[in-house]
Amino acid sequence: MQDLAGKPVIVRTYEAAKATNLFDEVYVVTDSEVIFQEIEANGGKAIMSQKEHDCGSDRIAEAVENMDIDIVVNVQGDEPFTSREGLEKVLAVFNEPDADKIDLASLMTEIHDWKEINDPNTVKVIVDKDNFALYFSRSPIPYPRDKNVEIQYYKHKGIYAFRKQAIMDFYHLPMRSLEAVEKIECIRYLEYGKNIKMAVSNTAGVEIDTPEDLARANKLLKETKPDTVNNKFRNFPMVPKVVFGAGCFDQLTSILASQKKENAPFIFLVDDVFKDNAEILDRINLRFNDKLIFISAEEEPKTSQVDDLVKDIKSEFTHTPSGIIGIGGGTVMDLAKAVSIMLINKGSAADYQGWDLVKQKAVYHVGIPTISGTGAEVSRTTVLTGPVRKLGINSDFTPFDQVILDPDLTIGVPKNQWFYTGMDCFIHCVESLNGTFLNAFSQSYGEKAYDLCLEIFLGDSLSEEESRAKLMMASWHGGMSIAYSQVGVAHAMSYGLGYVLGTKHGVGNCIVFQHLEEFYPKDVALFKKMVEKHNIEIPQGICKNLSKEQMDTMITVALGMVPLWENALGADWETIITPEKLRELYLRM
Ligand code: NAD
Ligand code: ZN
Repeated sequence: MQDLAGKPVIVRTYEAAKATNLFDEVYVVTDSEVIFQEIEANGGKAIMSQKEHDCGSDRIAEAVENMDIDIVVNVQGDEPFTSREGLEKVLAVFNEPDADKIDLASLMTEIHDWKEINDPNTVKVIVDKDNFALYFSRSPIPYPRDKNVEIQYYKHKGIYAFRKQAIMDFYHLPMRSLEAVEKIECIRYLEYGKNIKMAVSNTAGVEIDTPEDLARANKLLKETKPDTVNNKFRNFPMVPKVVFGAGCFDQLTSILASQKKENAPFIFLVDDVFKDNAEILDRINLRFNDKLIFISAEEEPKTSQVDDLVKDIKSEFTHTPSGIIGIGGGTVMDLAKAVSIMLINKGSAADYQGWDLVKQKAVYHVGIPTISGTGAEVSRTTVLTGPVRKLGINSDFTPFDQVILDPDLTIGVPKNQWFYTGMDCFIHCVESLNGTFLNAFSQSYGEKAYDLCLEIFLGDSLSEEESRAKLMMASWHGGMSIAYSQVGVAHAMSYGLGYVLGTKHGVGNCIVFQHLEEFYPKDVALFKKMVEKHNIEIPQGICKNLSKEQMDTMITVALGMVPLWENALGADWETIITPEKLRELYLRM
């Protein structure tokens, strides 16, 4: 009940868990009348537990005994900084191939400071090669007898995800001596032979066990606003080299020459729309063991697709490639970025979805757009659909080392597609320029790109050649504009469509945007003019026959895009965008 920046710690913890949008229901289970009242008074759900319990898991077991649930997650009441990322990771293990073996999952964090490793208040954990827990202890484990062996120490975080059976078993099993002597609850599972899968999460947080912790937490809350990565000063890299102009694609070979490493191939990922296009293919000079892989842009890139490509490349070549060259639209360029990262960084691409999770520099990578609008050629992200979410790998190592902007490559783009992808750029500008995160940096790029879009899509003075070149630069500037701000309503809702229906990004944005008059009145009117002028078909009625479950998922995915809503509508966005509001909007689409 202690105050944390104006609200009791337990209320903060409850709100943080709810805000992740990962759960069907969130409850506070307590034996305290005061806490029960406080949660209910704040509009939350609380359950009074009847009996005296030794630990939180028992209390939760009692609460869920008669609930119909698959997985229950125990978040300790003193963890108000519980992050979506950590909870997602602990849940994601239940989607992995060895999920059948898992009784419960928990989290661990890398620790490096010997003081912390030695501190008995910090519970350490050691794991096997598949990250199943071997033991938990307040002693430093393992003991570093040989100081030259490199070993990573992990601290256990008190977040658990149980299969229902596992928590019920636990409830009925008596405590044994290891648990009793270490005073560590989860040792009981090990003592009874249960499998605990550990996920790694390195997001910082503060558990509140002591008054000093509370003081630190209050300070942390003042300094940082959780979940708003976008309103800090951002120190981001730019594409260091770019060549522009009709025909400049021919310079590719000479550009690559200086990057060639002995025996290490260049891998060209090329949109399969060019499969029979000898004119383009002849200009890619494959040498020695260079390899060209055609990529279908039928579906948007997936983390599993990245993992497969990396596996194939690694099994075919002993040397890490000299470079990855992506030739295509946003789909192929994003794949090229992700593959170049994952050739160096271990694990699955899904492990790196989020902000700044990539630790090692990617393989040299080159982006060559063949359609304009997404800004993927200049951005710091690669948007991927993973097992639990659609989210970019946003890191300093994501941007291309080299970009080749040749407007002639976009000549064959079909009209509808030209419009959908071009509108991605227009909408990036609208959302950036009308957002609360706007600053002079974003504005200067956004306004230029916006004006270019109006000239291209509403003007009558441009030749086709000029129009291609200008759209290529609009895409670039639009991408730069959102680098220092954020997108908004159309993107958040389009992500929902993409996740549930597989609707592609560009067309999804258009489907949504035409119904957003109340958020972007002037620009929706302009958009409609553009649609009319170019005689474009925007699909209609795509949400009419959704099941309740699909609709709920769509709403959950859209609501999960917190920074986008914050940018669009400010900190109080949740009072405007409720699940009901989103349902009503989606039903119009
Ligand atoms: P795309 O890459 O999916 O391609 C769309 C269609 O156009 C495909 O059928 C493709 O084969 C075809 N095409 C491409 N170039 C062509 C050409 N020259 N001639 C004929 N056909 C051609 O489309 P997109 O809109 O560029 O990219 C969408 C993807 O970009 C989505 O996956 C989205 O998530 C991603 N995206 C990424 C970022 C980022 O910053 N990384 C930003 C926005 C969107
Ligand atoms: Zn976009």
